[in-house]
Amino acid sequence: MAIRVTVWHEYRHEKKNPKVAEIYPQGMHEAIASYLRKCEGLTVRTATQDEPEHGLSEEVVNNTDVMIWWGHIAHREVNEAVVDRLYTRVLAGMGLVVLHSGHFSKIFQKLMGTSCNLKWRDTGERETLWVTRPGHPIVKDIDDHFVIEREEMYPEFFDIPEPECTFLISTFAGGEVFRSGCTWTRGLGKIAYFRPGHETFPTYHDPRVLKVIENATRWAQPTPGPGPLDFGKHDLGWVDKK
Ligand code: ZN
Repeated sequence: MAIRVTVWHEYRHEKKNPKVAEIYPQGMHEAIASYLRKCEGLTVRTATQDEPEHGLSEEVVNNTDVMIWWGHIAHREVNEAVVDRLYTRVLAGMGLVVLHSGHFSKIFQKLMGTSCNLKWRDTGERETLWVTRPGHPIVKDIDDHFVIEREEMYPEFFDIPEPECTFLISTFAGGEVFRSGCTWTRGLGKIAYFRPGHETFPTYHDPRVLKVIENATRWAQPTPGPGPLDFGKHDLGWVDKK
């Protein structure tokens, strides 16, 4: 059965910065979604922040297997009820792939339980991403490293809980390092964070970046089975039979 993917995007920069609109004429979400639509076994829709309920009605969320998330300047405007809806759905098994400045999104902070704070320097410098977990499905078909010539820089410390897996570490022109690819599970939900993707650079046209997003989407798909929220429903009456 196809993995049902929703690519969610704040979609504000493209509307007010001509430089971003030139790189992403249909928006960053379409750059990602149009790639994923060509991948076998995925059905892909997009949702954006300024749609009613941010494009994330119960119907959409309940019919999403993996959500991809990019936000930056309007995290605070995301409705709490929608955040709760996403949170419950992740615990029940929906995968979540958080990109770049999505580290400060309400849903990521809520799932991590930490500030997710970090520093940054936006000068368009060279980033080298090193594979630190060869054989992990998210780095399938990725070489031992790859270079993005111009990106924003994020350095450690990144205030996240210790990842269950760190599959990529970045080094930057200034010598800084950053855990650029990390995974966690919360309930039945698999969560991946993937760093690159500043809006003024063509990062989501880079085939290696798109490949990692595709791999992360496949990795994050739900695994059927009872989750933590189902355990209360089990009948443990056999204890009384002793
Ligand atoms: Zn950025």
